[in-house]
Amino acid sequence: MSCPRVEIDLDKIGHNARSLVERAGKLGISVTGVTKAVLGLPPLAAVLLASGVTALGDSRIENIETMRAAGLHGPMVLLRSPMVSQADRVVASGATSLGTNRRVMACLAQAARDQRVEHGVILMVELGDLREGIMPDRLSGAVAHVLSLGGIRLRGIGANLACRSGIAPDAVNMAELSGCVERVEQEFGIELDVVTGGNSANLLWAFGPGDPGRVNNLRLGESILLGCEPLQRKPIPGLHDDAVALVAEVIESSRKPSRPWGRVEQSAFGASDPTGDDRGPVCQTILALGHQDTDPGGLVPPRGVRIVGASSDHLVTETDRQLKAGTEIRFRQNYGSFMRAMTSPYVATVLTGGLQ
Ligand SMILES: *Cc1c(COP(=O)(O)O)cnc(C)c1O
Repeated sequence: MSCPRVEIDLDKIGHNARSLVERAGKLGISVTGVTKAVLGLPPLAAVLLASGVTALGDSRIENIETMRAAGLHGPMVLLRSPMVSQADRVVASGATSLGTNRRVMACLAQAARDQRVEHGVILMVELGDLREGIMPDRLSGAVAHVLSLGGIRLRGIGANLACRSGIAPDAVNMAELSGCVERVEQEFGIELDVVTGGNSANLLWAFGPGDPGRVNNLRLGESILLGCEPLQRKPIPGLHDDAVALVAEVIESSRKPSRPWGRVEQSAFGASDPTGDDRGPVCQTILALGHQDTDPGGLVPPRGVRIVGASSDHLVTETDRQLKAGTEIRFRQNYGSFMRAMTSPYVATVLTGGLQ
């Protein structure tokens, strides 16, 4: 089989999604299944929909278009504020977008009027992580602006935490979000359908003892794909944490000294290889995998394999014994490493299970 490859078990993904949909549902929270790490892979998106997610979310219009072209007609959400240069495509895709910027929303409104459709927008509020979002004291002005634009419908309010600064969703910032929703509803005499509280980092808060307040939606990617929550990167009980794996192939394996020799300068990626102690000869095994395929720092090797270095296209490991060229090795991956592998043209994707 083609190497390197990401193997995705769609049955395990479906189980994870169903389990999260069910648990969130008991709290009155719907789930948007996030597909950006898999580039909108249609068979995986179809499994998410069959598992009860109420919408598909992706940060790139290209991936939304991929899913639409594959015949997925359900609700979709563009998770990153659209680019002005892509406003027409965003409106044409029928996705709701997350909005933060007045010019972007004015361009979407214009595109919607041109296409004679209505474009849905969810306004994002900044709650402290300092990535996207309108400062809470400017939310009212932003709502008034959106309501004044023909072609756009205000579908709700949302927030995103933990992605840039690692700020954890908690009772305080989630109550602030609910407070924003109530103030907007009162001030403008409207009712907001969607209050989308955040991403997988919100699960500890949502499944904790507190009240979800007005939050009625979460956008979940990593927790569905990897079965873990991203604040402490602990497995979520009842979910599969082995639904995806990266398989790479041995191209060289021989006894070599553990310590390089000669004058030390920079290596391909800047820092010198840690020379460390001289541990005598080791069994050095090279895999055809590198930075161009994935983030080597996010790979978890199986027992008997230790990663000691990586360049663009070579992953250097030490193994307990010499391995035949052609031997395949399976790695677990963190989110960044998985996402990079899915994005690399050198890495194949092999699916098992799913809707046949
Ligand atoms: C990526 C992203 C998500 C999904 O995050 P996960 O941690 O994978 O659950 C949700 N919302 C926004 C705005 C995102 O960019």
